[in-house]
Amino acid sequence: MINIINCPKCGSDNIIKGDLLSPGGVVFAPECQTEPIRIFSGLTALACRSCGTVFGFELTDKPEKLTCK
Ligand SMILES: [Zn+2]
Repeated sequence: MINIINCPKCGSDNIIKGDLLSPGGVVFAPECQTEPIRIFSGLTALACRSCGTVFGFELTDKPEKLTCK
């Protein structure tokens, strides 16, 4: 069964997947972590080519490793 993803805003199925990038890289780190070295994960997201909505953010690393000490 093919799982078609539709844009949550306009309903288009013209969706592309990509990484979230900036010059330093974009990561997700739990805010409860206060240690100098924080454990974090990269992110991927889906974008609608029709209206530009970005949605469907997912961690690229295993969520269970993002624990707070
Ligand atoms: Zn859309």
